[in-house]
Amino acid sequence: MNRARLLMMNAALGPLDYRVPDGMDVVPGSVVLAPLGPRQVIGIVWEEGRLPAERVADSRLRPLLEVLPVPPLRAELRRLIEWTADYYCASLASVARMVLSSGGALKGPATMTEYRLSGGMPERMTPQRERAMAALEGEQATIRELAGLSDVSEGVLRGLVNQGVLEPVVVDCDRPYLLARADYAEPVLNGAQQDVADRFVAAVEEHRFAPFLLDGVTGSGKTETYFEAIAAAIRAGQQTLVLLPEIALTEAFLRRFEDRFGATPVLWHSSLKSTERRRGWRAIASGSAQVVVGARSALFLPYANLGLIVVDEAHETSFKQDEGVRYNARDVAVMRARFERIPVVLASATPALESLQMAAAGTYEKLDLESRYGGAMLPAITTINLTEEPPERGRWLAPPLVEAMQARMERGEQSLLFLNRRGFAPLTLCRNCGHRFQCPNCSAWLVEHRLSHRLACHHCGHETSTPDACPECGEHDCLVACGPGVERIADEVATILPEARVAVATSDTLNTPEKAAAFVAAAEEGAIDVIVGTQLVTKGFHFPELTLVGVVDADLGLEGGDLRAAERTYQQVAQVAGRAGRGAKPGEVLIQTRHPDAPVIAALAAGDRDAFYDAETEARRHAGAPPFGRWAAIIVSSEDEAEAREAANRIGATRPNLPDVAILGPAPAPLSLLRGRYRYRLLINARRTAQVQDVIRDWLGALTFPSGVRVGVDIDPYSF
Ligand code: ADP
Ligand code: ZN
Repeated sequence: MNRARLLMMNAALGPLDYRVPDGMDVVPGSVVLAPLGPRQVIGIVWEEGRLPAERVADSRLRPLLEVLPVPPLRAELRRLIEWTADYYCASLASVARMVLSSGGALKGPATMTEYRLSGGMPERMTPQRERAMAALEGEQATIRELAGLSDVSEGVLRGLVNQGVLEPVVVDCDRPYLLARADYAEPVLNGAQQDVADRFVAAVEEHRFAPFLLDGVTGSGKTETYFEAIAAAIRAGQQTLVLLPEIALTEAFLRRFEDRFGATPVLWHSSLKSTERRRGWRAIASGSAQVVVGARSALFLPYANLGLIVVDEAHETSFKQDEGVRYNARDVAVMRARFERIPVVLASATPALESLQMAAAGTYEKLDLESRYGGAMLPAITTINLTEEPPERGRWLAPPLVEAMQARMERGEQSLLFLNRRGFAPLTLCRNCGHRFQCPNCSAWLVEHRLSHRLACHHCGHETSTPDACPECGEHDCLVACGPGVERIADEVATILPEARVAVATSDTLNTPEKAAAFVAAAEEGAIDVIVGTQLVTKGFHFPELTLVGVVDADLGLEGGDLRAAERTYQQVAQVAGRAGRGAKPGEVLIQTRHPDAPVIAALAAGDRDAFYDAETEARRHAGAPPFGRWAAIIVSSEDEAEAREAANRIGATRPNLPDVAILGPAPAPLSLLRGRYRYRLLINARRTAQVQDVIRDWLGALTFPSGVRVGVDIDPYSF
């Protein structure tokens, strides 16, 4: 090649051509450094024919500077980048950036320097120095990470290095991972499990595109069966990617993985340290990482020889990214498998309706595991009608649930109360003047967290300490908590069952792998009697002594006009019910509701999954909702309310008039203020066959907006 077309990593630039100097080895996929004005920028060499650019005469081309020392991105991955950008109406650069992950890590040596406390003291202690040293207690981190952790400038930290208070530790980013072994501890599968595993193993060995929907009740051994697929990939020398919805879950998963394969997999998630991120990325790109377990962002990494993708709990909404490139990792996983010609397993006890539809159409092969492993029974599910048997005044647990918990205490068994609300109360107001605590950046209430004595916004992270007096009227002791959160339920349990050992399990209390591991160990040892948790405890855990699950408010998720509200309620309750009676003792589930006759609740109580899916299918068909019709959203935002409104109105005024596409709005988005930006939204409902992306591209492509306005497109949105 003497001329190369680059996809530039800066989204504001179009593709550009460069001259390849003599002797430089450049192929499509090479990651290169190119001059741009006085700057140097990273680009990816692309096939010319697939990336149109203005033709520049050879004589005017500037030469590439260097090829970065990473393997070229394979054609399969370049096609995935193109498909993702096209389908989700995003720029190629924004997708490619997810592949390169941390562009800076591509250059330079394979070592990085972290710092730890040397034991020495600074010449003079300042509050900043004290903060930095406290943050590093028992840890090591790069200067940049430490600056972020302690909120102290890098200059101050350099000063501590010069004084010898922080000492450098050189970390080798290419140190190998321990090898996993396919035959480390092979399980004995039962007949149904073996049939499923055989299908997976065959597809891995044949290295062909094969999308599977693994539909198995909780505790049926879905994990065991896809472990055999991973074993097959290890034997074949190929890499596996396992996507998990919640990084807090990985601790239990990692232990199981290690028991089976004798080594832990490579972890990938957003809060990795930069040395681990670089190490993981390099091992994935070189092929030395055998099995990667990660959050959705792991999907775009440059695997050298991927042989299998597993998406566990594939119905989970956290696979949908709602910012930047708004993609659904479950769907992109299937596309990646198609480009790589490998099997992909979507595992769930409560598959998304879209996935079931794909199976019904024959696109996915559906494999079922209908009973729990070892003969454990599925729990009996009963509803408690809160209208007929209300809790005592100021309480949330109805008498039948309280009695059931008492019985568990007497028998030394565990109970789990599920309420999908973090904190103590969702709304705090002043009894004296009626003041309500609202987030300054969002149209949302601040949630009281009594354990940490703070008021927090669950959308932007804004926090203040809970005041002693009302900021509006100045009155003391006048704040009233409205409604329950998990902390408040835990208080109620402490009142009802004073001798019970209660644990609150949420992303606030289990916010590190260590805390999550300690919680799991305590629950397994029987050191906890009652767990009060959010959706974090609905999946993954296996506590043999847990025999009662109480759903505090099954109606909560049904409020608001969300398209997937019924499905999500069904999935959450079915998942949390699946925590009960996994051991030898039978489980019981009590669902508190004001609407026992609502189709979702009735189907749950009857244990009739098909009835729910049939009703939901009809409702979606009627509404032209997925999978029968398509939805898309255009979200317009600006820090200036008028500017956002005007931009949205202009988009609305230029709407295309098409027979198979209905366009609603603009209207204020449900969160009309989010992180300081005012948001307007247009909704698009189209027939299955409509080319929605083309319509949106043509429509928005003809408009220009002030620089403060952001226009985002959400294809197949989850919540709106
Ligand atoms: P799922 O992923 O479907 O919820 P798991 O794979 O977690 O189910 O299995 C549930 C429990 O049963 C786990 O504790 C698992 O170790 C155990 N189990 C399942 N299948 C087997 C098997 N074939 N041999 C031994 N234990 C098994
Ligand atoms: Zn906020």
